[in-house]
Amino acid sequence: MLRLLCKSKPTSLSSYSPHYTCSTTQHSSTHLSVPQITPNSFTPSGFPLNSPNPLKTSTGFRFFHQYGRKSQFYAYENPVNRVFLPGCSLNWRNVGNWKGNGVGFMSVRSLVGGVTRGFCSESDREVMSYDVVIVGAGPAGLSAAIRLKQLCREKDVDLSVCVVEKGAEVGTHILSGNVFEPRALDELLPQWKQEGAPIDVPVSSDKFWFLTKDRAISFPSPFDNKGNYVISLSQLVRWLGEKAEELGVEVYPGFAASEILYDADDKVIGIATNDMGIAKDGSRRDNFQRGVELKGKSNYFLYMRVEAIGMLSGRNGFKSHTCASNYMHSPGRLTLLGEGCRGSLSEKMIKRYNLREKVQGQHQTYALGIKEVWEVDASKHEPGFVLHTLGWPLDNKTYGGSFLYHMKDRQVSIGLVVALNYHNPFLNPYEEFQKLKHHPAINRLLEGGTVLQYGARTLNEGGFQSIPYPVFPGGAIIGCSAGFLNVPKIKGTHTAMKSGMLAAEAAFDVLHGGLNMDAYWNNLKNSWIWEELYRARNYRPAFEYGLFPGLALSGLERYIFKGRFPVTLRHGKPDHEATDEAHLHSPIQYPKPDGTVSFDVPTSLYRSNTNHEHDQPPHLRLRDQSIPEHVNLPKYGGPESRYCPARVYEYVADDNGQLKLHINAQNCLHCKACDIKDPKQNIEWTVPEGGGGPGYSIM
Ligand SMILES: Cc1cc2nc3c(=O)[nH]c(=O)nc-3n(C[C@H](O)[C@H](O)[C@H](O)COP(=O)(O)OP(=O)(O)OC[C@H]3O[C@@H](n4cnc5c(N)ncnc54)[C@H](O)[C@@H]3O)c2cc1C
Ligand code: SF4
Repeated sequence: MLRLLCKSKPTSLSSYSPHYTCSTTQHSSTHLSVPQITPNSFTPSGFPLNSPNPLKTSTGFRFFHQYGRKSQFYAYENPVNRVFLPGCSLNWRNVGNWKGNGVGFMSVRSLVGGVTRGFCSESDREVMSYDVVIVGAGPAGLSAAIRLKQLCREKDVDLSVCVVEKGAEVGTHILSGNVFEPRALDELLPQWKQEGAPIDVPVSSDKFWFLTKDRAISFPSPFDNKGNYVISLSQLVRWLGEKAEELGVEVYPGFAASEILYDADDKVIGIATNDMGIAKDGSRRDNFQRGVELKGKSNYFLYMRVEAIGMLSGRNGFKSHTCASNYMHSPGRLTLLGEGCRGSLSEKMIKRYNLREKVQGQHQTYALGIKEVWEVDASKHEPGFVLHTLGWPLDNKTYGGSFLYHMKDRQVSIGLVVALNYHNPFLNPYEEFQKLKHHPAINRLLEGGTVLQYGARTLNEGGFQSIPYPVFPGGAIIGCSAGFLNVPKIKGTHTAMKSGMLAAEAAFDVLHGGLNMDAYWNNLKNSWIWEELYRARNYRPAFEYGLFPGLALSGLERYIFKGRFPVTLRHGKPDHEATDEAHLHSPIQYPKPDGTVSFDVPTSLYRSNTNHEHDQPPHLRLRDQSIPEHVNLPKYGGPESRYCPARVYEYVADDNGQLKLHINAQNCLHCKACDIKDPKQNIEWTVPEGGGGPGYSIM
């Protein structure tokens, strides 16, 4: 992590090498071993040598893997504290005696309790034990963590909660509009105003335009943004991260959860983070660092800790047995997945446990949002002004539209959302966005301004019809990973937060009251999320019939039926199947960027602060290496070279003049569009080394 933090932002556009090719070599983990640890690794006061204590960043977050990257053993700071409860707590100061016991096993002797504890793993990775492991420090994950800790305080219970986040810092991978509806935050942290939440700009006016090439026709806004705020979600999430830490949640940015861990009964028992420091060819780089397993505490650990408490309190008999039986009947610890739209682990869970089929859910449908934050002339800035548009530059068969929100400090966020069930393989969402900015009504605002940041992210559009059963053995799926975005509102932050809170309440009852995680599903169905999504269910599928029938049907739903239309419309084909073959369309000629309002991809990428370690195995994996050249290019005209907003995929001629797919993986914005839109579902998006990816701060 230290290395990542030291890595400076690319100073020139040439840092984004358009011809960098990612090898598809995959590493094998079987030959990996853990560096040897010696007692000399510590200072006399018990802290790891060469490490500050305790390390805090400017944002207040501990960068745990700053230790981890330097030495494998530093990663034990928290597990040691974790497993031993108050009264028998170990930290660097009271680790009196320890010994490395081969790969992946270590004994620690506590000076307090005098009991030898084992940290072992079935693999050669370290294990850290928590009551609840949360993947993703987004609105959903952090709200779940905060709610859990609030319940712990209310009920005087100690549950350990950690959140792992693949971004280098909390918030760096968060991209949203964002018009924020504070309903869930009002419930979670009612004092948010007094506590300095970065929510300062109330919506002041709400406009809705239909765009033709040259004109903007104003309609009454179908949105109701009274009481909402224009914010940067990336900044709000940072603040939520601080609140979570204040409550005792352990937040670990720079850790990518790459694997789900199961027990013999196919129940999820935690996650593992990926190895760091693996080269493209599978060899270990100098900074090699084995991944960590974050698991629910096993009964073994729980039993041992209770025994230790009993010994310390001098009531070894009755009390320790009482406690032990309480813990021994614990139904197990939990993993909550809050990875956002198209979460890589969440998708695996949905498939493995047939979670969509379980509730007759339809497939999920998606859109790609491409966004910039501009600093505009003060005379044109109207804090709180909100504008949505439909129509141009998209054709009538493509669902989507633009948003333009005036934030504070002369900042304006502008974006184009394009539904990924578009048919024309020559459509290029990035170029459509560049075109949009040249519309006379929009160009007027941007002229004379500067772009501060660029980014892209997909969002769910399936709504009510596509919600999977969000509970799996050992955990649950929260937020946009399950798909709680309200499409006509274009808002998913409040529902993501609420779903995290509801899952937290169910999880607390599982861990403390011995109840069942299925309560989360019931909580959802009895909550305002359900009511909202049910009412909104027919808007998106209405547009399957084209823009104007869609407007008519959704108008009827909004103003006449108000969600009581007797039929629930179904979504059309999954997005990847919606792509037509290239011969049915003509290539689209997009204008060259002018460098003032419209820009080329490398310039935009520079503004996204995206950075990945170049020398690492590809995180964009082709299931079948031959499909790009044998199917995608001849049949679909190579659509991946157009839908990717970072130009990661390029067809480049080899020495024989044959076009071959090059994957510039280090440019990836983690938007997940390729995982969704590839016509043959041949691209698998997996997590790269933790800390890599975009570096958003105001998105
Ligand atoms: C263009 C656009 C405009 C939008 N506009 C609005 C709006 O105006 N109002 C509104 O309310 N909503 C809006 N939304 C939706 C809103 O952004 C989402 O609903 C919300 O961010 C979902 O929260 P989440 O916590 O589920 O996921 P996310 O916000 O996506 O957070 C997930 C987090 O998990 C991390 N993560 C993912 N996988 C892993 C892993 N394997 N290991 C470790 N970390 C991982 C990610 O890095 C990320 O930080 C918009 C979305 C987009 C894309
Ligand atoms: S490679 Fe895939 S996930 Fe990365 S930016 Fe391109 S489309 Fe998005």
